Amino acid sequence: MPSCVMRYCSNYTSKTSKSQGITYHSFPTNELRCIRWVDIVRKQRNEEFWQPTKSSKICSINFKVEDKYLSGKGYTLLKKSALPVLELPRAQSIPGSPNSLTEEKLFIFIYLFIICFIVCYH
Ligand SMILES: [Zn+2]
Repeated sequence: MPSCVMRYCSNYTSKTSKSQGITYHSFPTNELRCIRWVDIVRKQRNEEFWQPTKSSKICSINFKVEDKYLSGKGYTLLKKSALPVLELPRAQSIPGSPNSLTEEKLFIFIYLFIICFIVCYH
């Protein structure tokens, strides 16, 4: 079960599917490119001596859109220049807690009530 080696990324192959557009990419066979990838992963994981194994993979959300392209068969492939990005994009922003939302609605309700009160009694 290969999982993404990037820190904070919890994607692994059996959790995600190709239909979600998430693909898993092995480290480059080209030594120089591989070193650059390893360097980024080390910084990202804060592990100075981290080494990839043969099964190490990085999932496609860790690459910029412009670094990816679709093959004729519809597979997501990486451009030769592609590098994993250090920071994960914030795909899911955390919405405000339900409590603060209710408070906000209550505030608006009271505000409208006061306006109605003033308008009606003048
Ligand atoms: Zn990932």
